[in-house]
Amino acid sequence: MSIEIQGINKFFDKFQALHDINLTIPDGQLTALLGPSGSGKTTLLRIIAGLETPEEGRIRFSGKDVTDLHVRDRRVGFVFQHYALFRHMTVAENVAFGLNVLPRKERPGKPEIRKRVKDLLEMVQLEHLADRYPAQLSGGQKQRIALARAMAMRPEILLLDEPFGALDAKVRKDLRRWLRSLHDELHFTSVFVTHDQEEALELSDQVVVMSNGRIEQVDTPLELYGRPDSRFVFEFLGQVNVLSGKIRDGVMRQGDAWIRLPEGCENDDAQLYLRPHEVRLTQSASDDAHLPFRIEAINLIGAEVRIELKPDGWECEELWEVGISHTEFNARQPQRGDRCFAVPDVGHLFCEHSQEPKTLVW
Ligand code: ATP
Repeated sequence: MSIEIQGINKFFDKFQALHDINLTIPDGQLTALLGPSGSGKTTLLRIIAGLETPEEGRIRFSGKDVTDLHVRDRRVGFVFQHYALFRHMTVAENVAFGLNVLPRKERPGKPEIRKRVKDLLEMVQLEHLADRYPAQLSGGQKQRIALARAMAMRPEILLLDEPFGALDAKVRKDLRRWLRSLHDELHFTSVFVTHDQEEALELSDQVVVMSNGRIEQVDTPLELYGRPDSRFVFEFLGQVNVLSGKIRDGVMRQGDAWIRLPEGCENDDAQLYLRPHEVRLTQSASDDAHLPFRIEAINLIGAEVRIELKPDGWECEELWEVGISHTEFNARQPQRGDRCFAVPDVGHLFCEHSQEPKTLVW
């Protein structure tokens, strides 16, 4: 089932939380609402669910207008950050809860409910915990039970509000993978709220970036990361290195630093944004870039080594960061204080000047 959101405006008293939101959430896909705190993600999710009423605009599920339908009649499944399981009910009773409270004529018979609960617990791989109480479960297990409970109603739309927010990093990662594979198997339409870029990029088919109650960009994770429409999106999606300077005849300069730009840059004051993994470290400058640095710090971060760089003969507000592999690190053995050069590698950079900001590709 697709979700069409048209012209939504939402006010809390005089405060406008959502501004003219237009968005299509495609059938059977996983869509992330991503943005900083207060950007309106939860409010939009609650409007889709029917828990909140917009002052203006319409919501349609596969063409059918549901704007005036009560939450109960929209038939969407929910999972929240705090699992909200009933403490006095066993796992099986929690999963069966929604089915047991259906009006009599819609309620499946007892054997059917038992079968569905068994199937759902199998699906979340927790059949062995059916008789436990929530207090006897880990956070990750509780969240899977909350998901099974939401799925018991066989919703075509599943809404998740920071579903893994309260869990530690390892459990989060496992649950993400697991949700993705469950989704690929069952093909329901889901929308989840997150402020975690990595989670949004890894898990979803489509990412909606929000800020201040507005949609900044809607795209696939790959497009969003590679071709952000704005500086906000570029910066929000990950670490960036910034060079401010003046562009003259296709070359940007500041102090001793300069870089030759791809075609498409007007003469202007501008800022360039480069991702750490799209920059290489070398011992001498290249024909296309002269960006001298001193190594300020070397940090081992899991699979890669992050080198912090201080500009040498030019200035920037924050230190640059470049990631290199352990193999490269061992081969070159860079030391704090070493002089080196950064060379933009293949890929994208974002150029902001008084003309239209744009992504440039080498
Ligand atoms: P977070 O990641 O912190 O949950 P969010 O992006 O989900 O943030 P919302 O919860 O949708 O943001 O809130 C958007 C804005 O609307 C915020 O400024 C918030 O303070 C305001 N807001 C949300 N709910 C209400 C309410 N019931 N009454 C008044 N203001 C509200």
